Amino acid sequence: MYNELKGKTAIVTGASSGLGKAIALRFGEEKMNVIVNYLNKKEEAQQVAGDIEKAGGKAIAVQGDVSVEEDIDRLIQSAHEHFGSLHVMMNNAGIQNEVPSHEMTLEEWNKVISVNLTGTFLGSTKAIAYMLEHRIQGSVINMSSVHEIVPWPHFVHYAASKGGMNMLSQTLALEYAGQGIRVNNIAPGAINTPINKEKFDNEEQRDEVLSMIPMKKIGEPEQVASVAAFLASDQASYVTGTTLFVDGGMKLYPSFAAGKG
Ligand code: NAD
Repeated sequence: MYNELKGKTAIVTGASSGLGKAIALRFGEEKMNVIVNYLNKKEEAQQVAGDIEKAGGKAIAVQGDVSVEEDIDRLIQSAHEHFGSLHVMMNNAGIQNEVPSHEMTLEEWNKVISVNLTGTFLGSTKAIAYMLEHRIQGSVINMSSVHEIVPWPHFVHYAASKGGMNMLSQTLALEYAGQGIRVNNIAPGAINTPINKEKFDNEEQRDEVLSMIPMKKIGEPEQVASVAAFLASDQASYVTGTTLFVDGGMKLYPSFAAGKG
């Protein structure tokens, strides 16, 4: 636990499930005020908000599509109106779908880019504008992926969106370091969340994924949430413009593990 997080305010996008939910709950355990953003799972988001309150934090569920500018404005407005501040912006919402690149439509490309990359651009820059206006030395955390550096056939839109987030976060980190605003990415590998349910429910596919992880374990959402809490905290006060990989070693070229090559 990080004592200084108590009473601070965070927005977590896509917080009704998976990693966003785990991070929102962890922020609740830190006794933070949390805007629990959801796209369409209202009841789940309200449940998360209720669990945060039980843990000693404060929370409200707020609907919003991260790819829509007015919706991001509304999230920030909600943080200001309900909690009077915004210290941590956790841009977590993201989507993916599998399509061979030569069959991918412009619509499919635009959809993933607009949620993953444009949504992160809107969330980051508008949170930074708020922090500058209110002289807050805040933390912006963007949920990337190992695919910010690892190519991924059939997911070119997703890999391009996460690769773009790498440069987005580094550029913002450099631009606002002087004002004390930190911008970092978290890059998970394979984590046990709804986005992977179909894959992990299939034993063969699960084993295939495990073979790509040097630690031979699928990650749990709480193992990502603890990294988000660290990046939000003063313990990371000198950390900016970096990506923390939470992947059991997935990006370490596992095919070299036996000393071959
Ligand atoms: P998930 O599907 O449970 O979470 C994604 C959330 O984003 C959902 O709650 C969904 O409703 C929300 N969302 C989708 N479009 C939205 C929009 N336009 N506006 C607001 N919310 C929207 O899956 P997850 O694994 O928890 O994914 C969370 C993030 O983690 C994503 O950015 C994903 O790319 C990233 N990630 C996940 C893994 C993994 O293994 N689970 C690995 C690397 C990166």
